[in-house]
Amino acid sequence: MIIVMQQEATPEQIEAVEKQITDLGYKAHEIVGVERKVIGAIGDERGKERLQMIESMAGVESVFPILKPYKLASRETQPQDSVIDVAGVPVGGKQIAIMAGPCSVESKEQICTTARLIKEAGANIMRGGAFKPRTSPYSFQGLEEEGLKLLLEAKKATGLPIVTEVMNPREVDLVAQYADLMQVGARNVQNFSLLKELGKIKKPILLKRGMMTTIKEFLMSAEYILAEGNRSVILCERGIRTFETATRNTLDLSCIPVLKQETHLPVIVDPSHGTGYWHLVDSMSRAAIAAGADGLMIEVHPDPVHAFSDGPQSLKPEKFAKLIQTLRPFIELMGRSL
Ligand code: PEP
Ligand code: MN
Repeated sequence: MIIVMQQEATPEQIEAVEKQITDLGYKAHEIVGVERKVIGAIGDERGKERLQMIESMAGVESVFPILKPYKLASRETQPQDSVIDVAGVPVGGKQIAIMAGPCSVESKEQICTTARLIKEAGANIMRGGAFKPRTSPYSFQGLEEEGLKLLLEAKKATGLPIVTEVMNPREVDLVAQYADLMQVGARNVQNFSLLKELGKIKKPILLKRGMMTTIKEFLMSAEYILAEGNRSVILCERGIRTFETATRNTLDLSCIPVLKQETHLPVIVDPSHGTGYWHLVDSMSRAAIAAGADGLMIEVHPDPVHAFSDGPQSLKPEKFAKLIQTLRPFIELMGRSL
């Protein structure tokens, strides 16, 4: 339910309403309103009619149900765009976020060189996997905490915030000690235990769409994080699985305008996993910006041929620098900035 307070509602009246929501067994979520205070009462759908009685409380203007199943993620609850702060880098506002770096952290030399070069090229967030979700148990699984430490060294050298993946609830605290943005990979988009854990922390979350996830399911996954109290969620389209085999995945760019209509959360695009080939990254990056994406996540490796993972879809740093140059006019055309 959404509770709209009167413009002249006092802090005491707001507090009384929030207490009533809690007493009825629901969570009160304050919603950033431009003119008046709006409170979302979120919880068990069964029996939510009981919340209607709040309408008679002092300072309340109206009470109405949120129709979308994703309550806090929906534009119904918050019409204006969310801007998520990733260690000083705003994601979701006018500025386009460029996250770049290797698929996996492999060595100090590899991550520090890449971080320096992507920063020079114009990236504002550094990516690198320390815990890797691999199809085969015999493939490289990541350097784990050692990889997180190397990311921190690269951050100290460049000042770039870190985005890195967390794979299971047991490692949330460990990864949160190093990461500025916690990535949930495509394979974990419906790992509800993980999503709930991430809802309890203060760090922003980058939620990647699963390869078989509908837009509605994707938003319901975001809702798991929001419902626990963490309001900083960024969505990432990274390609879905279709009958097409010419590309690794099918990058669903039409999900951008759909998501933008449905949710206030920022949406970024990963054209590297979305296509699986480095030579398709340029055109899909431009298309993503044109479709209204708030940012890009691009795999960059100093020596893709010898990369431990995802070499074929990784750009060399010089190619990445060129891509950013060619993207600039597109970004300006969209009324955005880098
Ligand atoms: C990654 O970002 O390296 C990754 C594993 O991505 P996804 O979860 O989208 O496959
Ligand atoms: Mn990868």
